[in-house]
Amino acid sequence: MDNIGQARTVKIGPVTYEIKVVRGLMDDAKNTKLWGQISYENCIIELEEDQNSSANRVILWHEIVHGLLQGSGHSKLDDKEDLVTALAYGIVGVLKDNPWLAEKA
Ligand SMILES: [Zn+2]
Repeated sequence: MDNIGQARTVKIGPVTYEIKVVRGLMDDAKNTKLWGQISYENCIIELEEDQNSSANRVILWHEIVHGLLQGSGHSKLDDKEDLVTALAYGIVGVLKDNPWLAEKA
């Protein structure tokens, strides 16, 4: 895994989320395997350890997009998993292809 696990926190708007890399991540009912999960109440993003680092980056961004939409008050958009996933893949791709975008101005 790349530097995701070492980052430990990500700030989304005014809220700082703790990043936890865990093994065997499941939904709350313990029925479905998850690759990532965001808890707005506890300010935690959990990522499954058992995946490669580029997939992990997309999943982290997926959870960040959830956090952005939730924070914007657009909780109806937050429920649109296809939109969240499309934005996550898009953002990771654009940042990778244009590293200057991630530099401080
Ligand atoms: Zn999602």
